[in-house]
Amino acid sequence: MTRGNSKSGRIRQGFGRLLRVRHLLRHALRGPQALAFVPALTLAAFWLGGETMLVVFALGLPALYLLAGWGIAGPAPSTAEQQADVVDTAAARALVDSRVREAEAAGLGTACLLFEVDGLAEVARKSGDSDAEPLRELILMRLRGLLRRGDSAVRIGDNRYMVLAAPSPRLDLESLLQMSARLQSAVEEPASSDATMRQFAASVGFCATPRLPGAPTGDRLFDAARIALTEAARQGPSAIRAWSDTIAEDHRTRRTLTTELRAALENGQIQPWFQPQICTSTGDISGVEALARWIHPERGIVPPAQFLRCLEEAGLHERLTEIVLQHSLNALRSWDDTGIHVPRASVNIARGELASTSLVERIEWELDRFGLTPARLGIEVSEGTLGIGRDARIVENLLALGKTGCFLDLDDFGTGQAPLTALTSLPFDRIKIDRSHVSRVDRDERQRRMLAGILGLAERLEIDTLAEGVESVGEHALLAQLGCGHVQGFGIVRAMPADELAEWSRGHRARIADAQRLGRGTR
Ligand code: C2E
Ligand code: CA
Ligand code: CA
Repeated sequence: MTRGNSKSGRIRQGFGRLLRVRHLLRHALRGPQALAFVPALTLAAFWLGGETMLVVFALGLPALYLLAGWGIAGPAPSTAEQQADVVDTAAARALVDSRVREAEAAGLGTACLLFEVDGLAEVARKSGDSDAEPLRELILMRLRGLLRRGDSAVRIGDNRYMVLAAPSPRLDLESLLQMSARLQSAVEEPASSDATMRQFAASVGFCATPRLPGAPTGDRLFDAARIALTEAARQGPSAIRAWSDTIAEDHRTRRTLTTELRAALENGQIQPWFQPQICTSTGDISGVEALARWIHPERGIVPPAQFLRCLEEAGLHERLTEIVLQHSLNALRSWDDTGIHVPRASVNIARGELASTSLVERIEWELDRFGLTPARLGIEVSEGTLGIGRDARIVENLLALGKTGCFLDLDDFGTGQAPLTALTSLPFDRIKIDRSHVSRVDRDERQRRMLAGILGLAERLEIDTLAEGVESVGEHALLAQLGCGHVQGFGIVRAMPADELAEWSRGHRARIADAQRLGRGTR
């Protein structure tokens, strides 16, 4: 988004105003009832300005109608076209249903295309509905401008649009893909409702009746297009997806998984396991990372890769953080009670959660509840989180967390997703060097030089370092020699349940003592 300040900015501003006037006119003079005013307006024009005014009025009225986008002449609209610009989901379903019946009666097919426009909600949130509404209208106008005879388009709610194809004998995948791409390009063209030029991304999902198994109904077609749209939106911005058996099956699987996950979060099946982090100079445990595990009654230990995305898509990440945080603080308390020294437990916070306005408050509240100081809690923020555009609330939360005294780790460091300035502008206490820079470091000279470079940078910036994914004794030894502050990885130990850590810690201490006695350092 850029702000215009020049001539083009003024033109855009003018266009924005025109859209607003159009918006007002449409609502004030909508429909055939407006014709009732024509005689009165004609008389008034003649009375006010004589023949000249009458001529101006005669020429001006059609222009006004064109501006308002009603059209004056043309064929009588069909039932599907006599629809409102904006409908709710139930009305959208009814439209699909009537189009399917119409097509069936003629022995033809039809297709439903759904568009979801990213960014409109943000405009409404930041600049208000008065800025968002002309943009929503403009998008509908663009869609309608590209439709062929008999096709129709409506808006569903605030940021979805539906296009229904005219009944046709030819609705093959290729032509529908082309139609989707053409309409998508129109939606994604830059648009402005004030002096701000904006560009939106649109996901598209569609389905045609010939592809549906069994007899087509409006509900079936609409649901199929909706599933395709969900799949498109999952793929990221500007994706187009056609409904297929596979997509439908994936959708069903995810729905089942979401239901299971909801239950698992509540019945305690999902909880963190803890992977120790070791200080390279003393060999002591300097902290643990809390890693979510699903202890599934049939499938065993399910790693986060298999459920995290689904959990986030279902909006359950806040609950996960709450559970992981509570278990971690509880574990710290019980290790304290049994005399196991674990200075800190670190939790992973996903992007969606890090932008939450209540995050800092919730963390402070939990720390208070468990009677632990903020320094006992680490927050791991992935480079990827900071890489996807700068969100002011994320920055605010990180600054606030730093101020409370929580320890901040920049996770997955070196994957190139965040600007290096994140290290100086945000209050990170440590970088967590990504496994890609750690593996085989003892056997690969280029890898060793890269790691030495990262460690040098951290030293200059006076920021602590932790290497993750340390799998071998060789890697561990070299990291210690190069001055990396802490290590974590399968080479030391994998994540384990809280109650196993006490025993592992005792064994670890014994191993360090043995090594020291034999003069072999702290590993
Ligand atoms: P991460 O934060 O980068 O966590 C490190 C991952 O590397 C963990 O996988 C850990 O088990 C694994 N790992 C540790 N040492 C080694 C090693 O020596 N070699 C190899 N190959 N892997 C090692 P895990 O537990 O499967 O977690 C995967 C990712 O899931 C995490 O990556 C983190 O991004 C995310 N995650 C885990 N728990 C949570 C959670 O509670 N909340 C959120 N938001 N994300 C979580
Ligand atoms: Ca992590
Ligand atoms: Ca990591």
